[in-house]
Amino acid sequence: MENCIFCKIASGEIPATIVYQDEDVVVFRDLHPQAPQHVLLIPRRHIASSTDLTEEDGPLLAHIYTTAKKVAQQLGVDQSGYRVITNVGPDAGQSVFHLHFHLLGGRELGWPPG
Ligand code: 5GP
Ligand code: ZN
Repeated sequence: MENCIFCKIASGEIPATIVYQDEDVVVFRDLHPQAPQHVLLIPRRHIASSTDLTEEDGPLLAHIYTTAKKVAQQLGVDQSGYRVITNVGPDAGQSVFHLHFHLLGGRELGWPPG
């Protein structure tokens, strides 16, 4: 989608530190990390948020979560633990409207989130 920063990262138009990519997903480091390890997992296809997912997106979501598991191993946080979250809409503080899952780890994460 035009003017979508994450579409541009997925296409390579805007640089990012990519830690994993394949045909369907791209994983890159967050510009403003909130933990020692903080990456974003996105589908290449533009989906505004999890609100726009349908039943047909089941395989895509499974792929995103199995990718999160592999990336957690790659980043060395699979044993210490990590969190995978997606913000939806204003109260959750969603600021980029291309579906993304934060993977955070490398420190003890507070609960509940602020
Ligand atoms: P949200 O607030 O929508 O859940 O998360 C958006 C995230 O994208 C934020 O953590 C922000 O730091 C990150 N972000 C925004 N613009 C860019 C960018 O151009 N490059 C990278 N790598 N991350 C970005
Ligand atoms: Zn997009």
